[in-house]
Amino acid sequence: MSRISINRNKAKLRGVLGIRARLVLLALILVGPLMAERIRALDATRSQQIAQAARDFASVARHSAEAQQEVFASVEAVLKSSAYIYTSAAQVNGSCAIMRASLRGDMPWIRSLTVAGKDGTAQCSTWPDAVEQGLSFGDRPYFKKALESGQFVVSDYLFSRMTNQPTVMAAYLAPGLTRDDDAVILAAVNLDWMAKLMDNLGSRPGVTAVLVDQAGTVLAAPANQKAAIGRPMAYLEMLPVIAAHTRNSDRRMGSLSIAADDGTQRAVSFATIPDTGAQLIVSIDEAQVSAVADHEIRTAYLQLGLVCLFALLGALVVAERLIIRPIQLLETMAERFGQGDWSARAARNRLPAEFIPLARAFYGMAAKLRGRERELRASNEQLTVLASIDMLSGLANRRGFQGRLDFEWLKAQQSGDDLALLMIDVDHFKLFNDTYGHPEGDACLARVGEALAGLANHTSGFAGRYGGEEFCLLLPNTDTARAIQVGEMVRAAIWALGVPHATSAYQQVTVSVGVASATPIQLEQAKDLIEAADAALYAAKRRGRNAVVEHGFVRTFGTAVVSLAG
Ligand code: GH3
Ligand code: MG
Ligand code: MG
Repeated sequence: MSRISINRNKAKLRGVLGIRARLVLLALILVGPLMAERIRALDATRSQQIAQAARDFASVARHSAEAQQEVFASVEAVLKSSAYIYTSAAQVNGSCAIMRASLRGDMPWIRSLTVAGKDGTAQCSTWPDAVEQGLSFGDRPYFKKALESGQFVVSDYLFSRMTNQPTVMAAYLAPGLTRDDDAVILAAVNLDWMAKLMDNLGSRPGVTAVLVDQAGTVLAAPANQKAAIGRPMAYLEMLPVIAAHTRNSDRRMGSLSIAADDGTQRAVSFATIPDTGAQLIVSIDEAQVSAVADHEIRTAYLQLGLVCLFALLGALVVAERLIIRPIQLLETMAERFGQGDWSARAARNRLPAEFIPLARAFYGMAAKLRGRERELRASNEQLTVLASIDMLSGLANRRGFQGRLDFEWLKAQQSGDDLALLMIDVDHFKLFNDTYGHPEGDACLARVGEALAGLANHTSGFAGRYGGEEFCLLLPNTDTARAIQVGEMVRAAIWALGVPHATSAYQQVTVSVGVASATPIQLEQAKDLIEAADAALYAAKRRGRNAVVEHGFVRTFGTAVVSLAG
């Protein structure tokens, strides 16, 4: 491939890519911001989801703490009324049976109600084993405190000796007639409801929910995390952080973001239950909560990629079909015009409507160019004709004569015919001019030309003005003898014109004729024939003018002989 065509291909590629690249860029400018906005919105949703989850759990923690507070309030009321009943019944002996009978059986908060004597031994209980086993509460701080203070006392969370379940004991003094008759009513508060509440929390992925005592031992947990009960909580490292937070802010509930030891970032909601020091702690693995949003963001990126890809492909297809192909069609058409195929047309149904006026303009331009080309050709032909004609004599000029000589030479070479040439020169023409003036000289030359044209017609020859006052007559298929005859006819014809020439020996205009004839295969070039005829003309001049001389030998005729002799 030539360098020029490589450069042309490069330029073509650059031009075509230019349009495509621009359309692709336009498509991206349109699609990009939309998709970027979608991703930004999803990102915002992700943070919102984490915040929302934290808020949800904080509210659950708060409600749980408040619910437990209410539970303790109702337990307090039950204990106080039980104490009153027990004290009143003690006086009529049978207090235990009366108290048991008076207790409502549908209280979900209280597992069991027990009356312990001053020494702490169970005397009466809704849980019969307590009395039978001689269960004693004497060493329990909450028992001692209730006995001494006479106030409603709530224990820390503990594992019940009776049921071996996490529980909280509430105690209230039932005063006897004497101090020795004092007893303490004890209620084992049921924490199962707390676990049930937590079930709602624990079912969500990445969420841990625990009720812990001050030491971090798990007292209650959702069903799926039940194994944790009675053990130190997971993420124990959160406790000091929460403690520091509650100390600083003096608030019993709140939300924090804590980096756990396992490397997860956890959103933590906590609520401290008053009077007990227990805490409900809900923590969420932020990464898991945001996993859904992350998935959506990934999908959005994928969508962005696909949409961009489709936009790019669409732009390329549109560019190809609507712009590049029509341009190529018009380009092919223009190239065919350039090669002279004026009938070239682009198929109308392959051009988009916007390109049809352009195609029409092309056709119009092609039609005009075609007309101009015709005109140009005609005037060129005219110029060629004009360039080979001598305007003074009306004969062919030297250029025209040379063309004809070459043609006849070739023809004679092929046919093997003779070709004769006569060189004709007006005698003493300088003197003629000097005598009659240049315009008269011109008129004389015109008459000579006219006479030669007549003779050429007559002899099937071709006459020309070789230059100045020198003429020539080309005679195809003419041998030497005939050529000499024609030469004589020429000399006689000019003589017959009878143009006066006072400064000539003949007193009128005469011509000398040099004759040469040859078979072109004998001679090498046409110019040899000219030289031969010229040499003969020279000889005719030497012979005294108004004479016809053939190349190689001399013949004189009629007048010429006479005048020479004279
Ligand atoms: P010879 O017989 O030896 O040919 O003598 P000559 O005077 O004819 O020859 P020469 O070569 O000395 O002079 C030719 C003259 O022809 C000179 C020039 O002024 C004249 N001549 C040539 N062309 C033209 C022309 O177009 N018009 C006119 N009026 N004269 C011309
Ligand atoms: Mg001359
Ligand atoms: Mg002359």
